[in-house]
This record gives sequence, C-alpha cells and structure tokens, in this order.
Amino acid sequence: MHIDLERLGVHESVGTVFPARVLVEYLEDLPLEVGAIGDDEIADCDAVVTLEYDDAMLECAWIHSIQAGVDRFPFETLEAEDVILTNSTGIHGQSVGETVAGYLLAFARRLHDAAANQEDHRWDPPAWDEAFTISGTTACVVGTGTLGTGVADVLGSLGVHVSGVRRSTEPLPAFDEMYANDDLLEAISDVDFVIATVPLTDETHHLFDAEAFAAMRENAYFVNVARGSVVDEPALVDALEAGDIAGAALDVFETEPLPEESPLWDLDEVIVSPHCAGFTRDYGPNIGEIVTENVARLERDDDLKNRVV
Ligand code: NAD
Repeated sequence: MHIDLERLGVHESVGTVFPARVLVEYLEDLPLEVGAIGDDEIADCDAVVTLEYDDAMLECAWIHSIQAGVDRFPFETLEAEDVILTNSTGIHGQSVGETVAGYLLAFARRLHDAAANQEDHRWDPPAWDEAFTISGTTACVVGTGTLGTGVADVLGSLGVHVSGVRRSTEPLPAFDEMYANDDLLEAISDVDFVIATVPLTDETHHLFDAEAFAAMRENAYFVNVARGSVVDEPALVDALEAGDIAGAALDVFETEPLPEESPLWDLDEVIVSPHCAGFTRDYGPNIGEIVTENVARLERDDDLKNRVV
C-alpha cells in the first residue's frame, strides 16, 4: 500500500518530554507540511508524532509513538483501520542505563539520604556499614532489548557483574550470564539488584509479584524502568514494609502521576522518579531521526523502521 504524506502533525502531548517546536524545527526540511497540533487538528493530518493516543488518530495513515512502550495503543483497532504504528525503540539505552546507574550509586553511596538530610540542614553521615561500592556487586536485568542492553553496558563499565533474563539463554555481549524466562526466580534469587526492562504485555503483566519479591535477597534492591504494571504494586509495598527486600528505585507506576496517598512516596529506601529515566535534551532530535528515516522509507515503499502495527 503506497501512502502519500502531505501533512505531519507533532501532537501537543509530546510536550511532556520536549517542546513540540524542537521536533517541528528538526523536521522542517522534509518534503511535506509539518506543524505542532492540538486534538482538533489530528484528523487533518496524514501522520502524527505523539505521546498519547486519541481515537481521532484513526483518521491518519501513520502514528509514530515517541516512546518505546506502545501498550497504550489499541493494536487490533489500528490494524482493522489500516493505521500504521511505529515506536521509538532503540534510543533509550544510554539514558536509561545512566539513570539506573544513578539509582544504584545513590543507594550504595547513600546520596539519596544526603539529599533528604540537606532539605533539613542535617549533618548526618551514614553508619560505617551502610555505604558500599557498586563495583563487584551483581545485577539481574530482566528484558534484554535496547533498555536492558543499555543498562548492562553502563553497569558493566562500573564493575557490576550483570546477568540477563530473556526468552532464550542465547548469550549477548553486554551480559556476563543469561537465564531463560522460566528461570526468573532463580535468576533474581542471589543478586544485589533486580532491574525490570521488559515491555508491558499480557505475559509480563505483574511479572514481579509477591513470589518474585520473596525470591529476592533481603538486602537486594528492585528497580523498575519498564512500565508500572509489570509490577504488582501492593505486593511491592508489602515486601518493602516487611523488609523482604532492601529498597526500590521506581520510575514507572501502575497509576501515573503516582497518587499523593501512595505509601511509596514516604518509604525510606525508595527512590521515586516521575517517568523520566529516558529523558535527555537530545530526545527531540533522536525522535526526528527515526521519523525522517521513515518518511524516506514511505516514499520508497520500503518497510518502516520500528513498525509495531
Ligand atoms: P525493545 O523492543 O528494544 O526491547 C524489549 C525486549 O523485551 C526485547 O528484547 C523483547 O524480546 C523482550 N521481551 C518481550 N517480551 C518479553 C517477555 N515476556 N520476557 C522477556 N523478554 C521479553 O524495547 P526497549 O526500548 O528496551 O523498551 C522496553 C520497555 O521499556 C518499553 O516497552 C517501555 O515500556 C519501557 N521504557 C521505559 C522508559 C522510561 O523512561 N522509563 C524508556 C524507554 C522504554
């Protein structure tokens, strides 16, 4: 099916991550009309670049998600309506890898405590046996795509021994060791850090449940940079409150923004970040590169990069 693109809209929802104008400027040399749009202009576009999904996008021929995770899009409806969906997998490895390293370093070097103490002008060094170095620790990264590989690369460079969990046990260069999905509980049972980097699917929904947290060591930390619903959040809160695990760094939640009344805000060894693990000032240009490549591929009737539907 050949698609003629005349108008591409950058939907205002991208503003959560970068200003729409950054991408509009990046794309200004494309041989089509590009502009920032609100909800009421979606249906006038042949293509939209967006964070959020809106039913009006069913009028477009092509939707590009600025996120890698596309769990919010209705795959079956898009397929039935002949709407192409592409995502932004491939750009978040280094940024998310560095964020995860930041969490691990905060826990090990007690930087989150120092930041909290500074708020109260309190001079309160850690106890002698609280701080540690992350070199020589062990991490298990569950999901070995762009995010998992980026995390493994950055942690590996800091001297962390990194194992992975994926559908097969086929080795990958960034990982020191590999487990298959069926051996998840064994893989996470004896490491210092467990890091979730899988997409949210029917298979991974609540993958990290009470059984998984019980399998982890009591001095192990859990990190979620994937999607909130890969975790059974009440089970995580129970595990943290009971001291079944040492702490958690969470960038994503079952409900976002994290509700004011969530106990996760106030737990001592929990770091909460507002779904920004992949943020970087290069985000807009990184998306622009994928969109430019796909506009060229559409002109040539080639298969699209990162096509999901
Ligand atoms: P990706 O497509 O590069 O990698 C996903 C990997 O997960 C693939 O290797 C795939 O084979 C594997 N996978 C799929 N189902 C699996 C299962 N049931 N068990 C084990 N492995 C499975 O995607 P990515 O760029 O690495 O992103 C992964 C997810 O992380 C996204 O879907 C998104 O939800 C999330 N994400 C979050 C942020 C953030 O800011 N926190 C940023 C980017 C991506």
